Amino acid sequence: MADRIKVTNPATGEIVEEVAAHSTEEIEARIEKVAAGFQSWKKVNAHERARLLKKWSDKIQEQKEDIAKVMTLESGKPLKESLGEVDYATSYIDWFAEEAKRIYGRTIPANTESKRIIVTRQPVGVVAAITPWNFPAAMMTRKAAPALAAGCTFIVKPAVETPLTTMKFIELAHEAGIPEDAVQYVNASGRKVGEIFTGSPRIRKITFTGSTPVGKHLIQDSADTVKHVSMELGGHAPLIVAKDADLDFAVTQTMTSKFRNAGQTCICANRVLVAKEVVDEFAEKLVKEAAKLKVGNGLDKGTQVGPVINGDGFEKVVSQIDDAIEKGADVLLGNEFNKDDDKGYYFIHPTVLKNVTSDMVIMQEETFGPVLPITVFDTIEEAIEIANNTPFGLAAYFFTNDYRTGNYLHEHLDFGVVGWNDGGPSAAHAPFGGMKESGIGREGGIEGIEPYLETKYLSIGGFE
Ligand code: NAP
Repeated sequence: MADRIKVTNPATGEIVEEVAAHSTEEIEARIEKVAAGFQSWKKVNAHERARLLKKWSDKIQEQKEDIAKVMTLESGKPLKESLGEVDYATSYIDWFAEEAKRIYGRTIPANTESKRIIVTRQPVGVVAAITPWNFPAAMMTRKAAPALAAGCTFIVKPAVETPLTTMKFIELAHEAGIPEDAVQYVNASGRKVGEIFTGSPRIRKITFTGSTPVGKHLIQDSADTVKHVSMELGGHAPLIVAKDADLDFAVTQTMTSKFRNAGQTCICANRVLVAKEVVDEFAEKLVKEAAKLKVGNGLDKGTQVGPVINGDGFEKVVSQIDDAIEKGADVLLGNEFNKDDDKGYYFIHPTVLKNVTSDMVIMQEETFGPVLPITVFDTIEEAIEIANNTPFGLAAYFFTNDYRTGNYLHEHLDFGVVGWNDGGPSAAHAPFGGMKESGIGREGGIEGIEPYLETKYLSIGGFE
């Protein structure tokens, strides 16, 4: 990679800014810096760490409008969503600032009068993070906040498409008083930084959000130095609409789940499974709503669906649509594009496909675009079978007002995040993460700080 990274606006193809790409030596120097900083940061008491984290969050909020604009420029997402992401990102800092004060140990009754047993928790050490472009702020704070709260130091590599939001966040962390040797970023290609991070004996933990193939690679490469790993990987979320569901509500929630960030979220509804009794009515209502979505530049007022991130992303989505049509799917809406290969922008209009079947690629692979495939099922058992029949297990949704059906679905769906009559389940106070090839570990909730802590047990003998 060149020594400059050109950050481009996916809505226009124009260059937003150029940033320096770090050399191997520079990356290693920053790792050394946070490794040295660990010795002092781990000694800062939990209440002070909490205070500094809260100050960081406040500083971000003070600049919310400017940050959101930059996020839209580099990621293409509508400004309203960027504003929402800044709030979502700071909600993790606020949550883990509080959790810093709740890192408890315990005592264990011994099996002899002469001993006392005490369990304490300590930070794992230097944490290295690699994050994706689809949520440039929140995927970083979900990692940085618990790491810093636990007393770890932290270094992050953002995606080359979206480094600006991360750089601003780290600058504000320093302004808030979090030491420069406690939190750092590096900019370079994922392949290069991945090799340096996983190969470094200084780094004790790798935390990653991104695609499943890259996650597997990082797990393998972390084995030599037996690092802790947390992996937030790809999803392929099923959304099940039972015959008794409130269809209007299900449609509203499906819209939120599917078309946010132009369908480029790991938990967006990728496979919509509808009971045969209501499939026509559901599809008709959904198409009516999806047709109203305004596609355009995220900075334009009223835009609800921005561009996809780049040409590769575009090609993947279009090939899935083509494959589905070839194998017999009906296009109810969309299959329209506005793109310019020379300038480098790619818009996909909201697309709804019906009569989608399991042999189509769109039912097997993550889509990452504003395309909603509808398939039909006869029984709830069949819906569960289809839903579970992929290597992924991140998020699943179902809509039913029957508590028995709902409970049955909840118990049988193999997914880490489940929304029952809820198309937007993510929250800083809840544990987010995937089963199967969708990941290892949880982010958020009281579970979210655990991966940044080691357990140490002390056995004291010699009592009378
Ligand atoms: P990606 O290609 O895996 O990239 C994500 C990050 O990994 C980028 O920073 C990228 O660097 C880096 N990377 C690429 N190749 C690497 C390598 N060989 N070694 C180390 N790092 C490497 O994923 P993406 O397409 O950008 O992001 C979308 C994926 O993220 C989807 O699969 C989505 O489901 C998943 N995701 C999951 C969650 C979750 O919480 N489970 C949340 C959001 C997204 P570059 O800058 O060089 O590209």
